[in-house]
Amino acid sequence: MDIKEEKMPEEKKGLNFVEEIVAGDLAAGKNGGRLSTRFPPEPNGYLHIGHAKAICMDFGVAEKFGGTCNLRFDDTNPVKEDVEYVDSIREDIHWLGFDWGNREYYASDYFPQLFDLAVRLIKEGKAYVDDQSSEEIAAQKGTPTTPGTHSPYRDRTPEENIDLFMRMNAGEFEEGSRVLRAKIDMASPNMHFRDPIMYRIIKTPHHRTGTTWKVYPMYDFAHGQSDYFEGVTHSICTLEFVPHRPLYDYFVDELADESYRPRQIEFNRLNLTYTVMSKRKLLQLVKEGLVAGWDDPRMPTISGMRRRGYTPQSIRNFIDTIGYTKYEALNSVSLLEHAVRDDLNRVATRVMAVVNPVKLIIDNYPEGQTETVEMENNPEQEGSGTHKMPFSRELYIEREDFMENPPKKFFRLAPGQEVRLKGAYIIKATDNIERDADGNITAIHCTYDPETRSGLPGSMRKVKGTLHWVSAQHAVDGEVRLYDRLFNVENPAAESERDFRELLNPDSLKVVKGVKLEPYIVETAKPGDKFQFQRIGYFTPDYDYTKEAPVFNRTIALKDTWEKVHKKA
Ligand code: ATP
Ligand code: MG
Repeated sequence: MDIKEEKMPEEKKGLNFVEEIVAGDLAAGKNGGRLSTRFPPEPNGYLHIGHAKAICMDFGVAEKFGGTCNLRFDDTNPVKEDVEYVDSIREDIHWLGFDWGNREYYASDYFPQLFDLAVRLIKEGKAYVDDQSSEEIAAQKGTPTTPGTHSPYRDRTPEENIDLFMRMNAGEFEEGSRVLRAKIDMASPNMHFRDPIMYRIIKTPHHRTGTTWKVYPMYDFAHGQSDYFEGVTHSICTLEFVPHRPLYDYFVDELADESYRPRQIEFNRLNLTYTVMSKRKLLQLVKEGLVAGWDDPRMPTISGMRRRGYTPQSIRNFIDTIGYTKYEALNSVSLLEHAVRDDLNRVATRVMAVVNPVKLIIDNYPEGQTETVEMENNPEQEGSGTHKMPFSRELYIEREDFMENPPKKFFRLAPGQEVRLKGAYIIKATDNIERDADGNITAIHCTYDPETRSGLPGSMRKVKGTLHWVSAQHAVDGEVRLYDRLFNVENPAAESERDFRELLNPDSLKVVKGVKLEPYIVETAKPGDKFQFQRIGYFTPDYDYTKEAPVFNRTIALKDTWEKVHKKA
């Protein structure tokens, strides 16, 4: 697959190509003017951001043109499927802001009809039971340029085939010992037409149908017919299904007439830099404990992103930006991060927290005195109000915000240099610096100018730097978890000769304890809340959060600030 990095496309306008097809079909009065789509997850893992792209398409196009979108669990393989996944999928779709009403369906609902169709095809000589192993069948497939060879069982009589198929389903035969195949064309240039497998034997009980069935339909024999049984008109999926489409149509032909037939349309998958999107690999990360679960904030899963503090709106905005095309691409994760920052800037409450604290003592501020300063909650949102923050003689500031021997253009704190403490006073550092036995700075002394508090005339005085701070005696200790990209390489999927686990970024999680939080954060924080720790980044309470031991996930850094800090250092 030829994957190129995609640039940020032009401002989106008009309809995307799928919407154009839908609009055309509706205008032509196809399917009685009906529009019905479906989102068809297999409940064998948690949904990831790639699925979000499909969800936005399937539900989005239905919403846009007054149709409906079904949720259909594609539960045709009981070995890999589980109700835990069903529940998580429902939750994630709702969280993204979509709803399927009472249209929750399961491919397993159609097992009886699919079985009946298989029996009919056998009777019509269009399907046969093959006693060969999957290896033997694969060896006879041929190549795209050379025809395959016929199975020795291809010409069994319908009677014998019916008898064997019934006995397969009765549990008489071992898994892998027999399959039901469509009798189509072993020389077809489309490999999917070379007598594709319709049914295999599986004896693991199914999460919905229990032990009723011992044979289970393959995707290609289930999907199009399920669409048909459900009345789906537009079956939108990803590009890897393009070569399956003729087979989709072949089976649908056995059911549909001129009044209604579902139609498959394909768009490009979402691939993101610095991550993997394969459910198999994500499952492996979870099972091997390489991440803390499907909802680990480093995972590209919807539940991981939710826990990390991404908003549904930011994910939807990102998907809108990248759009839908007919060729594969690799999208930069920084586009997603941009969308996240953009939305959080709009909604996050501004607060102060000091991640790497050092004491700051204001020598000329009265001992024992506390005053409160008023802080804006969100300058981006009118009416979001203010909150109070205590100020006192001893504060914490960020260790990196002080330098004893600063280079030129260091506009933060240094001996003899002035900065503003955000929302409060202008201070000037003195030469008095306290150190521990190892020489590490433990406290910085300064003086303040009482005339410079906001509201007073001196507040207009300009200084170059503004620092965030918290009052030492009022601060609450907390923990922050700083997340970085899960993988070290841009396109882990392309590194086929290396085990993807070797490509994991060993520094993708950094835990920092002893973070000093302004009291307002802990007084108000609830799960799902979004904060901007000023000058640091966006944070959200983790699921482990308690008032006694507050834990915050860093959703994303405030890029600008950190880049500046790194450049200076
Ligand atoms: P599997 O290998 O288990 O089939 P899958 O990622 O295809 O994995 P499904 O549960 O079958 O998972 O996917 C449900 C729907 O989501 C399908 O229509 C599929 O095309 C779509 N989808 C899956 N991955 C992506 C992706 N990266 N980008 C866009 N759509 C995707
Ligand atoms: Mg799939």
